[in-house]
Amino acid sequence: MARLSPVLQQATPVQVARGEGAYLYDTDGRRHLDFTAGIGVTSTGHCHPKVVAAAQEQVATLIHGQYTTVMHQPLLRLTERLGDVLPAGIDRVFFLNSGSEAVEASVRLARHATGRQTVIAFDGGFHGRTMGAAALTTSGGKIRAGIGPMMGGVAFAPFPYAFRYGWTEEEAVAFCLKELDRILVTAAPARDVAAFLIEPVLGEGGYVPTPPAFLRGLRERADAHGILLIADEVQTGYGRTGAFWGHQHTDGLTPDILITAKGLASGFPLSAIAAPEAIMSKALPGSQGGTYGGNAVSCAAALATLEVIQEENLVANAGEQGLRLLDGLRKVAVEHPGIADVRGLGLMVGNEFLTPEGAPDAAAASRAHAAAAERGLLLLTCGPFGNVVRMIPPLIVTAEQVDEGVALWSEAV
Ligand code: PLP
Repeated sequence: MARLSPVLQQATPVQVARGEGAYLYDTDGRRHLDFTAGIGVTSTGHCHPKVVAAAQEQVATLIHGQYTTVMHQPLLRLTERLGDVLPAGIDRVFFLNSGSEAVEASVRLARHATGRQTVIAFDGGFHGRTMGAAALTTSGGKIRAGIGPMMGGVAFAPFPYAFRYGWTEEEAVAFCLKELDRILVTAAPARDVAAFLIEPVLGEGGYVPTPPAFLRGLRERADAHGILLIADEVQTGYGRTGAFWGHQHTDGLTPDILITAKGLASGFPLSAIAAPEAIMSKALPGSQGGTYGGNAVSCAAALATLEVIQEENLVANAGEQGLRLLDGLRKVAVEHPGIADVRGLGLMVGNEFLTPEGAPDAAAASRAHAAAAERGLLLLTCGPFGNVVRMIPPLIVTAEQVDEGVALWSEAV
């Protein structure tokens, strides 16, 4: 008998048997309200009937058609349909399996497209665990510990996490852009920089929405220096934030390369990068890909996911329920001074715990997380010190389920 590697750190002891909508059912038949959605993946809820039907039909028709050998209909249809939701001008798409692979593919593309090497990522950013993606990740934890040397050609710049430094958003943005300008003439000269890589909401790093003024500042500098702006929408895409793409909360902003995964196929492994023709055509033919990339069943599930998002108006629902969740959690926080900040965008909401002295309180966050799990509310922690409890309900969540979650949270804290 083999046993799982101890490298796995499971957040709860729950063993699930099945999922339906916003709920998971464990092997003892107990119901859990799932405000993790498989870390932002099962956006249409667990086992949405339309996604199940599309996947079942595809499994019985064609499971795998390796795309460097043969092309298949689900991938072609999905590519076409993505044109309806991608920002204008971003009309070339390429598929992979996971967020990390798509991040690495975006870096490869940016280096090919610009002939430059350096990628500037931001403090606290999370872009994945594979070696290249880990080299761009500083959200904390043990992702980079003991595995160096890391991929070269990476520089880091500060992220405007205003709450953490006790600044206003304007102060944080002004400081970080000034610092970025300094980096562009010192550690990472602009002429060597291929891309800025940024999450529209800092995810694993603490659920901090990136201020629009900061994204605009990046866009201006990218345009001025021929640098590409890569939006890592692995967690923020597909309606999660109440807009189809997280960057769309910044009026008029368009990235050069967009990365998507997680919610794309409701739980089937699939990721993609998208860029305008002028950029994508600079990729070296044959330089991107993978055995399972653009798997036929995943693509069929992704097509059904897009239909569900549109038919059930899930982007608007994420915005509406996100506000309801924020409001409910802020009321809970008033009664619990340890919860020093409640913030978020759409259905990406974080509760940051501080000690009475103002230090990050990972122990309190961990206690609240465990107490919620005991009451049947599944949550996650994140943040540079593990002191943020985050909530990522599925986009199909109802007002009643939001209220149920807030009531369980209130008991838990
Ligand atoms: N980028 C972001 C913003 C993420 O949140 C994640 C995963 O949480 C990744 C990349 C890595 O994705 P994956 O775990 O599918 O490799």
